[in-house]
Amino acid sequence: MEQSNEIKKLKENLFCQRKHGGNVLSSDEISECYDFAEGYKDYLNKAKTERENVSFVLKMAIENGFTEFDKNKKYVPGDKIYCINRNCNIALAVIGKQGSKNGVKLSIAHIDAPRLDLKPNPLFERNEVAMFKTHYYGGIKKYQWTAIPLALHGRIVKKDGSFVDVCIGENDDDPKFCITDLLPHLAREQMSKKMSEAISGEDLNVTIGSIPFKSDEGSELVKLNILKLLNEKYGIVEEDFISSDLELVPAMKSSDIGFDRSLIGGYAHDDRSCAYPSFKAIFDCKEPEKTVVVLLADKEEIGSTGNTGTKSNFLKYFISDLANIDGVKGRDVLSKSKCLSADVNAAYDSTFANNFESMNSSFINKGVVVEKYTGHGGKYDTSEASAEFTGEIRKLLNENNILWQSGELGKVDTGGGGTIAMFIANLNVDVIDIGVPVLSMHAPFEVISKIDLFMTYKAILAFLNA
Ligand code: MN
Ligand code: MN
Repeated sequence: MEQSNEIKKLKENLFCQRKHGGNVLSSDEISECYDFAEGYKDYLNKAKTERENVSFVLKMAIENGFTEFDKNKKYVPGDKIYCINRNCNIALAVIGKQGSKNGVKLSIAHIDAPRLDLKPNPLFERNEVAMFKTHYYGGIKKYQWTAIPLALHGRIVKKDGSFVDVCIGENDDDPKFCITDLLPHLAREQMSKKMSEAISGEDLNVTIGSIPFKSDEGSELVKLNILKLLNEKYGIVEEDFISSDLELVPAMKSSDIGFDRSLIGGYAHDDRSCAYPSFKAIFDCKEPEKTVVVLLADKEEIGSTGNTGTKSNFLKYFISDLANIDGVKGRDVLSKSKCLSADVNAAYDSTFANNFESMNSSFINKGVVVEKYTGHGGKYDTSEASAEFTGEIRKLLNENNILWQSGELGKVDTGGGGTIAMFIANLNVDVIDIGVPVLSMHAPFEVISKIDLFMTYKAILAFLNA
C-alpha cells in the first residue's frame, strides 16, 4: 500500500499529465465555458465571410471605445485603436504603459474559411436549370459540399462603381442554393472512383433556378429570368459578376452538439474559434504593460498571399506607425515582439485513429493546444517555436491555471498543414501556434468543445495582460 502511494506520487510529479476539463474544472468553471460559447455561436451565425467578420468586429470595437487609428495623432497608455485594410482585415490595438518601444504582444487569427467562390462569369443554363459555376477556395473535400443548403454572401461592384452587398439564404424564409449529387442507384462508376475524383472542381455547379422567362420560344430563358430577378432586387447585370466577391457558404446555423451540450457544431470554427477569443481578449485586456495588437487576417486558407493576407506589409506598416508614435523604429519593435499565432489544431478522432499519433495529438476537452510547429514531412514549411519561447508560454499557462495540452498535426508523413506563424517569424518576431482542437476541420460543419474555446480565450487574455 505504502509503495503504491509512493509510485502514485512519483508519477504525479514526473509524468506529463494531460487532463480532461470535465475532471479538473469545477461546475462553475464549466458553466463559464458554456456561457462564453453563447456569444460565439451568435457570432458564427452573423459573420460568415471575412468582410462580415470585419464589420462585426468593428461594431464591437467601437462599442468598446476603439477609434480609428491616425498615425499623426499622439496616443497615451490605455488608448484603443483599430485599423482596417480593404474591408477584409482589421487590426486592433491597446496602447500599453511602455508603448511599443519594448516590443508589442500580438495575437493573430484568420477570418477567411474554406468555401465556394463564384467564378467571374458564373451564370449558365443547362436543360432549363440555371446554375452558378464556382471555384472552391481553400482545402476542401469537394464531395462534402454537395447536397447541403448553401447561402450566398458578398459584394458586387456595378458598372457605375457603386456596390451592393448580398446575403441570401441565412433567414428561415430565404431561398437557399445547393449542388446536386448523383443518386446511389446510378452511381456505380462514381462510387468506385477515388474520393478526390468522385466530385471534380467543375462538378461544383450550384442550382439557382428553374423557371423560364414567360413561355416564349428562345434559348436561355431560365438564365434570363434569373438575371431579371437579380436586376430587380440588386440592380445588377451579368457583367457585374466580374467585379464581385461572391461566396457560397453553408446555410446551416451553429448549434450545441451532444446530449450534454458540451460541443459546438458550426461552419468555420477554423479559424473563428481563435478569432473570437482574440478580439474578446483585447476588449477585456486592462491597461497592458506593452502595447497589444490583435490582427484578424484574410487569405490564410490559400497561403496568406495578396494585399489582405498575412504575407502583405499591412501588419509591418501598422507596427511601424505605432513605433513612430513612440519615436522608435518599426524593425526594433518587431524584433522585441511576441506573437500567438491563434489557429486551430486537428483534434484526435478515434474513428480515424490510424492517422493520428496519440501521444502528440490534441484531444477535445483537454484545453487550448500549444503547437511548437506545424508543416509537413521533415518539418518543412513551418516556424518552430524555440525551447525558450515555448517555455515562456508554458509557464504563463501553468501560472494562470489554464487547461492546456501540446499538439502536433497528425502522424509524421500522413499530410500536414501550415499557419501564419512562419510569416510572422520572418518579421523577426517570436511566435508560437496556439488554438482550439477541431473535429472535421474544413468540412461545412466542424465540431469543437466549449471548454477548449474558453481556455483559448483565457490563454490569449493572459498573454496580452502579462
Ligand atoms: Mn486555420
Ligand atoms: Mn484551415
